Amino acid sequence: MQIATATTRDPAPGTENQDAFAVAGASPVRVLKSLGKALLDDLEAAGFVSLSDLWFTFPLRFEDRTQVLPMHALRPGSSAQFIAKVEHAEIRFGKRRSLCVIVGDGAQRMMLRFFYFKQAQADSFKVGQRVLLFGDVKAGPHSLEIVHPRYKFIGEHESVEVAGALTPIYPTIQGLGPARLLRAIDAALAQLPQSDGWMPSGKQWPSLADSIRALHRPANRQEADALKLGKHPARDRLALEELLAHHLSLRLVRQRVRSERAPVLRATGRLRERLLASLGFALTGAQKKVLGEIDRDLASSAPMLRLVQGDVGSGKTIVAALAMLAAIESGVQAALMAPTELLAEQHRRNLERWFAPLGLFGVNLSARVKGRARESTLAALANDAQWAVGTHALMQDAVAFRALGLAVIDEQHRFGVNQRLALAEKGRFGERRPHQLVMTATPIPRTLAMTQFADLDVSVIDELPPGRSPIQTVAVSRQRRLEVIGRIKDACAAGRQVYWVCTLIEESDEVQAQAAQNTAAELIDALRGVRVGLVHGRMKPNDRAPVMQAFSDGDVQLLVATTVIEVGVDVPNASLMIIENPERLGLAQLHQLRGRVGRGAVESSCVLLYEPPLGETARERLQVLRDSQDGFVIAERDLALRGPGEVLGTRQTGLASFRVADLARDAHWLMEAQRLAGPLIESEPRTAEMLVKRWVGSAVHYAKA
Ligand code: ADP
Ligand code: MG
Repeated sequence: MQIATATTRDPAPGTENQDAFAVAGASPVRVLKSLGKALLDDLEAAGFVSLSDLWFTFPLRFEDRTQVLPMHALRPGSSAQFIAKVEHAEIRFGKRRSLCVIVGDGAQRMMLRFFYFKQAQADSFKVGQRVLLFGDVKAGPHSLEIVHPRYKFIGEHESVEVAGALTPIYPTIQGLGPARLLRAIDAALAQLPQSDGWMPSGKQWPSLADSIRALHRPANRQEADALKLGKHPARDRLALEELLAHHLSLRLVRQRVRSERAPVLRATGRLRERLLASLGFALTGAQKKVLGEIDRDLASSAPMLRLVQGDVGSGKTIVAALAMLAAIESGVQAALMAPTELLAEQHRRNLERWFAPLGLFGVNLSARVKGRARESTLAALANDAQWAVGTHALMQDAVAFRALGLAVIDEQHRFGVNQRLALAEKGRFGERRPHQLVMTATPIPRTLAMTQFADLDVSVIDELPPGRSPIQTVAVSRQRRLEVIGRIKDACAAGRQVYWVCTLIEESDEVQAQAAQNTAAELIDALRGVRVGLVHGRMKPNDRAPVMQAFSDGDVQLLVATTVIEVGVDVPNASLMIIENPERLGLAQLHQLRGRVGRGAVESSCVLLYEPPLGETARERLQVLRDSQDGFVIAERDLALRGPGEVLGTRQTGLASFRVADLARDAHWLMEAQRLAGPLIESEPRTAEMLVKRWVGSAVHYAKA
């Protein structure tokens, strides 16, 4: 494979070349006739429409099955293929049910562990059965171990064929086995046109086609390792291009949106004054400053695209409400969208409390508003509703606003760019589109902010309302659980309220719910006389809301919850939070959770009830949380300790996830991408569009509509 030979071609873009690539890439997968109809059908069903969909689906990693090692050569920390015989198999019921299989070759032994298995699978490990194994070898307490090895039973004398090259492991795709996907990608790679593609200047890069091929089929282990370590020119080239494309897509969205018109909104101040007078507190300097920035945007006919960042508890909601009044005073509608029912419900209560006395009429739309109520809500939105609050139900097709002037999106990190744009799209009326205000409590390190929010102006509420006392954070081992339960009793006796957060990740909602139920039962038992409530993700919003309301009203003293309460929930009288197994969560998420306490004047504490022993990183992470209460500091540390995917919680957020780039590693490429973006949009807008189409696809679709 010729990836090392960089092309020396002049970096000026050869448009014909790009087009050749784009044209070939747009060919339907159907052109790969040799794959046969059944596979082609399945590819299409799985969403592989064009060749480029296959080209840009990259392997997650590579397995070296080019040799079968003898067992004595196995070392912890490496992945290996070897043959052994089953010596013993049993299901163990420890902390977690697991299938343990001991295999050996007469001289050496090792343990295979399965945490997810079916009974039939357990039964299939018969003593004496020969098995071909592949997996990551680790040092266990008694012997070497492999957790979830790949395995294949083989006959007593069956010979094993070794692979001629590294085996690429692609993401699992529903409806396509790994072997069939591999075959399809091989066929697609054979169609790569010999094209340089667009070339960033300043360096000699391998061509686009060679780069793609190198990522799929590294020639040997050294190359695969270089890819994995981010030290491969082909990977760098694609990473830079991808980062550039994402950055461009946001810049283009911004450019298009800003070139349109929004209603000019000037707050008369009449409603605002009345609301402010009713609050019982004065805005902080930071809130006033941010509101001023928003007001300037609203008074312009270019649609506002503004992000308000403010740590948990900094008071973003009231700022949003005051901005909404500017829209309402100007005769257009304002909508507030939240990522969860829980949060939407809380916002509804706040807005109702603030706006109803002003004589304003608003509605609430979420998935649980059904039938008649839904119809009348939709009618109101198309008519006389002045404000609206809800979940992403506000973006559904059936929803039509009379004249949406301002769309506020809370806890932005939970929504993707697309969803954000979709709400603005919904709100189009005539030639105009609404102003957009997005709010987030997730402090995002600068590098990440550049990729996620390049289309937004940023305002920061960098001051907490006065009178908050700092949160005491302590890490306590699970062995002292009873002592911790004792603290709950004291807090409740003193009239305070308490959160108990059960964490489980990578488990189903059902398992989470069960764990929370068990904990609640245990606490009810241990804390007679304390009124306990329970909320978890498996509860219907209709069942959850009254519990939250009761907690908010002080009727429930101890709220046992899964991480569904993470964002936004605001009960100032709650002053103690216990987080079970904090080592399982990211720092940003822990910080968010902890931000549920320390909202009133009483001294608050957060107990991190960890499961010993803690690893080095886990210990460091909990220490960060004990040392700092500044979301930005925590986010930076989190990024350093865990990497960006984890910090952003990409998996749950629907935020851009990258195919090649890795934000922690590629920060310098991000800078480069930023530098390249402006001139490219200026002088080669078609190239910019092409790159966006290649890497980001439909993300700009809404903005164009
Ligand atoms: P967040 O920024 O996390 O969304 P909220 O908007 O929920 O924070 O506000 C947290 C709490 O602080 C609420 O109870 C709110 O009424 C209160 N609050 C907001 N601004 C002020 C202020 N300037 N002075 C005192 N309390 C305030
Ligand atoms: Mg909030």
